[in-house]
Order: sequence, then C-alpha cells, then structure tokens
Amino acid sequence: STIKERYESSPGPFVSLEFFPPKTQSGKQNLMARMGRMTALNPLFLTVTWGAGGTTAKKTLELAALAQRELNIPVCMHLTCTNTSREVIDNALKEAHKADIRNILALRGDPPVGEDWDQGSAPSDFKYAVDLVRYIKKEYKDDFCIGVAAYPEGHCEGEADVMDHSSLRDLPFLKEKVDAGADFVITQLFYDVEKFLSFEKLFREQVSSTLPLFPGLMPINSYQLFNRASKLSHASIPASILNRFPSEYHADDNKIRAIGVDVLSEIVETIYERTEGRVKGFHFYTLNLEKAVAQIVTNAPCLAKMFEEEKDDDLVDGIEEIA
Ligand code: FAD
Repeated sequence: STIKERYESSPGPFVSLEFFPPKTQSGKQNLMARMGRMTALNPLFLTVTWGAGGTTAKKTLELAALAQRELNIPVCMHLTCTNTSREVIDNALKEAHKADIRNILALRGDPPVGEDWDQGSAPSDFKYAVDLVRYIKKEYKDDFCIGVAAYPEGHCEGEADVMDHSSLRDLPFLKEKVDAGADFVITQLFYDVEKFLSFEKLFREQVSSTLPLFPGLMPINSYQLFNRASKLSHASIPASILNRFPSEYHADDNKIRAIGVDVLSEIVETIYERTEGRVKGFHFYTLNLEKAVAQIVTNAPCLAKMFEEEKDDDLVDGIEEIA
C-alpha cells in the first residue's frame, strides 16, 4: 500500500525508518535481520536511500525490493535525478514497480564530492526535484505515491545561500513540488525544535494545511557523528542541547547515546504536543542502527503509548530485545 493510504488510516503517532544499502552481501543479510527486528517498532513505512548519481542504484533496488517482499511494511525508495538521464530514471522506476514498491522519495541529489557543478549546464534531463515529480506524474500517473524533501533551516548551497540561509527562500520551491503532485514531505534532520515549529507553521500557511509532514530526526550514537552529521546537513545545535554533552563524556558512546535518547524523546514529545496532531509521524535517519531508535520509541511518552494501548506482548518483547 502507499504511505498516503497508511497515513490516512492510522491515528498515530508512529515512526518511519530510513536505511542505506550496505556494500557487501553479508552486510545486506545483517541489515535485513535488523530491519526485521525493527518491525517491532511498528513503523508506518521504511525508506532506502539512493547514492547520488545512481552510484548505489543496484544495491538500493535490491534492498528495497527485498524489504518490500519480506517485511510487510510499505517501502519508499529514494531517487535522485540530477546528472541523470531519463533512461536511468525509467529503469529505476520500472524495477521498483516490478518489485511492488509504490512509494518514491523524489530528490534532486548533490554533485559528487569535490566536483564543481554548474547546474545550468548539467548534462541531465532534470534540474530540480520538481522536474522528477512532474516526470513521474506524467509518465507513471498514479503508480507511485511521491514524497519530497524540505529544510526547516533552509537548504544550504553555495555562497549565495550563506547570505540567505533560511527556509523562507525554499518555500515557494517546496510549494512547487507539492503542487506538482507530491503526497508527503520529509524534512532534513534538525535538533532545534523551535526552528522546526516555525517552519511547520509557515508550511501550513503557505504550502499545505493537510499534507503529511514528517520531521527527520537523527538519533545520537556518538559525539563525533552527532557533530559531523549536523555540520554536513547545516543543522544548528542549540546551546541548551550541546551543554548536555559535557566533554568528559565525549568518548563514552553509551553515555552519549543515553543523553541523546532523552534529547530526541523531548524533541518528539514537544513536536507532537505543540502541533496538536498536525504532525503525527516521526522519520528516523537510523544509519542502519537499531538501539537508539528503539530506546527513543520506548522513552518518548507519545510513542510509548502506542504499545501500552495495544498491549501487544510480542511487540513489547521485540522492542525490549533491541533496546
Ligand atoms: P530541490 O527541491 O530541487 O531543491 C534544491 C535547491 O534548489 C534548493 O536550494 C531550492 O531552494 C532550489 N530550487 C528549487 N527549485 C528552484 C527553482 N525553480 N529555481 C531556483 N532554485 C530552485 N541525497 C541523495 O543523494 N540520496 C538520498 O537518498 C537522499 N535522501 C534524502 C532524504 C531527505 C529526507 C532529505 C531531506 C535529503 C536527502 N538527500 C539525498 C539530499 C538531497 O539530495 C540534497 O539535499 C539536495 O541538495 C537537494 O535535494 P532536493 O530534492 O531538496 O532539491
């Protein structure tokens, strides 16, 4: 089924989980086992990333198809379009469809690291993500439920954006993607909950009052990764959060993760309460790790409630095993 259908029929709150395709065959087997355990978290859907420029095309398609076939949870395949020919896009979409994948996260992608990139002359049939949304809608009608990306702190690109680094600049382009037929939106990771809440307000006013909007959250698994991921995605870390990680703990991953679980649980709870039901799904960038996400799900009261109410002992046992 599609994410849109599942979203509309689920009261929430719930989570969704992002994975990336491992490089090796044994890595894939380990990850499938882990994804199987993580179905205990009752995710609404799973997503599989796409290496920019199609570098992981085969592995992405394989993992997405396997998960779709074996886990009984809708899979969403990411797909980037920049520097990509129509043939590559068609092949990916046809393969996905054959594997019963009904959800695509339509992205632009980034230039390969270290390469300068003149968008104007990029040898591609697609320039922006909206071109991919329009293409899928035109050529594949309603075969796919389409998601797009959004940036609560603004999409950062080149020097011009350093001057104008705010979500306001992107909003008309996000609206363009939604008007072109996007069915749901997932945000870039962030740690400043107030920035997300301001963005959500603008989104509701200027883009759509009803479209599913999933905040993207990255659990904190190590201090180094936390800093690196935030820098790479231009996510600011409020001092009130940074201060909770005193330097004597920086090398202790267990300690860092435990503090991170509290931080993320509070972010989830705050968003759920303050958006009064407008946000009912939380998307986790798992980095293919299970522990922290499972701990957040059992720790954030609004998410933990879903299991208490269900009184599903198998699910509760399953979570205890991975948390
Ligand atoms: P777009 O929506 O095309 O926007 C890109 C930039 O162009 C923005 O600054 C926007 O404001 C601007 N823009 C858009 N339209 C116009 C216009 N008409 N005129 C002028 N400017 C315009 N990358 C991967 O390679 N693989 C993945 O699997 C992947 N998954 C992701 C998942 C999520 C949830 C998110 C948030 C990002 C993901 N990315 C992934 C990263 C993404 O590819 C990059 O952030 C990329 O730089 C932007 O992609 P987009 O789809 O948001 O682009």
